[in-house]
Amino acid sequence: MEQYQNYIGGKWVNAKSDEIFESRNPANFGEVLGTFAKSGEEDILKAVESAHEAFKSWKNTPAPARGEIFFRASSKLESRFDEFVNVLVRETGKTLLEARGEVNRTISVLRFMAAEATRLSGEMVPSQSEGVIGYTIREPLGVVALITPWNFPLGLAASKTTPALVAGNTVVFKPASNTPLISTMYVQLLEECGLPGGVLNMVTGPGGPAGNVLSTHPKIKAVSFTGSTGVGTKLGKVVTNRGAKMQAEMGGKNPFVILPDADLDLAVDHIIFGGFGECGQRCTATSRVIVDRLVADEFTSKLVEKTKQLKVGDPLNPENNMGAVIDENQVKTYEYYIEKGKEEGAELLVGGYRLEEGNLNGCFIAPTIFTRVTPEMTIAQEEIFGPVISIMTVDSFEQALEWSNNVEFGLSSSIYTNDMKKAFEFVSNVESGVAHVNMPSTYSEPHFPFGGMKCTTIGPREQGKAAVHFYSETRTIYVKP
Ligand code: NAP
Repeated sequence: MEQYQNYIGGKWVNAKSDEIFESRNPANFGEVLGTFAKSGEEDILKAVESAHEAFKSWKNTPAPARGEIFFRASSKLESRFDEFVNVLVRETGKTLLEARGEVNRTISVLRFMAAEATRLSGEMVPSQSEGVIGYTIREPLGVVALITPWNFPLGLAASKTTPALVAGNTVVFKPASNTPLISTMYVQLLEECGLPGGVLNMVTGPGGPAGNVLSTHPKIKAVSFTGSTGVGTKLGKVVTNRGAKMQAEMGGKNPFVILPDADLDLAVDHIIFGGFGECGQRCTATSRVIVDRLVADEFTSKLVEKTKQLKVGDPLNPENNMGAVIDENQVKTYEYYIEKGKEEGAELLVGGYRLEEGNLNGCFIAPTIFTRVTPEMTIAQEEIFGPVISIMTVDSFEQALEWSNNVEFGLSSSIYTNDMKKAFEFVSNVESGVAHVNMPSTYSEPHFPFGGMKCTTIGPREQGKAAVHFYSETRTIYVKP
């Protein structure tokens, strides 16, 4: 079995303790994808020092030359497309179609950010004093720490590392422990494309030691985290208390509103995609369907019928619509919320169980629909991060809007209607960083800003130009020639 290592200072090295952990295929318990360095605080400290040493030279590398590396990486990733797709499927349990989507998105991110290197511009502002030239420039922050989750391990690694590196920062990257192989392949790809040693350092292993060092180390000028609300909020307090920059993208509980005039077939297709795609393990997953009573029965029977047709199984088999969830903890979380839903009086219409029949030997769970869900129920309030949709019935647009906002999260939302007056009223008043009309809650383009409101997000937006702004600061220069 292949043993993979940390990447520090341009070298592949074991953890100081020599300890290792395994990455397993959640759709096939028999398959171990490799062993990885179980890093402790000493390893993280070494990565910080190595990034610090590399900063000066990387900062002084012309920005377009920095960008060139990511252009090369995008072409190389394209030429190794199937290999990356295959590992993504085996390490996350997502389907072939979903993995292809993630690799394609990663290629787009690499290309967009590579080009951003030529657009790291400040501005020329007319001075109020005669003979003075005043202008601004964008400068990197220094060493930044990037912590990613397992649900989009390749796409999110690219979304965080590329703006940070293009802007001239050096990086300590801590990927999720469930997906170290695809993260290692991403770092190898950048190394092969000419990224100098020390500029990007990857340390695998548990979050605790990494979080302790990266949140408190004075040489870390910014932390960008994507993951659970509990971890992100704790990290955010420590990082911002010492005056460093923090960006955290966390949980969602995304509403999908259906008004009486909606195209119900379209809505059903988009709920299947948004709620059950990636087994519901998306921060933007459709989680609460808020439907007008006038069409609730018709809509519900259409949704149930389509859900029953979904095939769950081996994600490498293109016939299957859903693969496995990431691990046993995810299965347990799902089972906990199924019980909670039943206990609190919701009606289970489809699913609600683990699939173990046939030769399934992994973390497979059934797409699930609850109806008669009311806003105070646990399944209407907490993020499940699994293939569970809660149907809530309302009597008016106003009630739909009120229930949409009646959660602590605020990431994404959708409304289905042809009444554009109501649609715009919804997008103006719904408390979510991303809002959609007649489009799935999961829709997002990589060059648009992305982020939430309320307890979903700390700090500025990710993606697009907004991301480059987070990883840089503006300096103002006055010159009297
Ligand atoms: P998680 O447990 O918070 O883990 C995320 C990352 O943080 C992993 O790399 C993890 O390492 C690390 N970590 C764990 N404890 C830490 C600590 N004390 N200090 C520093 N880092 C620590 O979240 P997850 O279960 O992987 O991901 C699911 C969550 O991510 C969901 O809530 C989902 O909504 C959210 N998410 C949000 C977005 C968004 O853009 N809003 C996108 C994707 C996912 P280990 O793996 O080693 O534990």
